[in-house]
Amino acid sequence: MKWELPQLGYGYDALEPYFDAKTMEIHHSKHHQTYIDKMNAILEKYPDLTETPVELMKKLDSLVMEDADKKAFKNHGGGYINHALFWQMLNPAGERDEKLVAEIIKIFGSMDLFKEKFSQTALGHFGSGWAWLARNEKNELEVYSTSNQDSPLLKNHQPILCLDVWEHAYYLKYQNRRAEFIEAWWQVLKLI
Ligand code: MN
Repeated sequence: MKWELPQLGYGYDALEPYFDAKTMEIHHSKHHQTYIDKMNAILEKYPDLTETPVELMKKLDSLVMEDADKKAFKNHGGGYINHALFWQMLNPAGERDEKLVAEIIKIFGSMDLFKEKFSQTALGHFGSGWAWLARNEKNELEVYSTSNQDSPLLKNHQPILCLDVWEHAYYLKYQNRRAEFIEAWWQVLKLI
């Protein structure tokens, strides 16, 4: 099964001035594409694995794959899945999910408290990785970060919101100022 780069559904310049067009173009057409190409190269070796990468990631431990390929799928398949979700929630034509907003306020106390917790998690993550709002196995919302391209799907959590804190996501425009990039992300996030 060969997987393709998901279309953004909006232009590379649609999130200016918060996310600049050049970073968007490189991030989508180069970084995301490379994760997909490498994931496809792994899956080519296992033609029986025809389920979606999301389904495969959920049961990665039990997949019959060489250990090196399993590790590579965690990285590149994770890169494919995480970025697909990341673009989707930035869609300028997207609608606010009122049900999710109400649940966030109930769990975290207020939108501001939630934002503060999420931003601190993203800012405090050491090195490359992602900040998440995810639904755990008890159906509760949790905020945490993961390293590299590790997906919440690996621990049977459902990813809801994700923020890429790899330097490639912000270095061109924000250099080492991750906090400014996180602030910019709240401006372009359409889901909540
Ligand atoms: Mn990225």
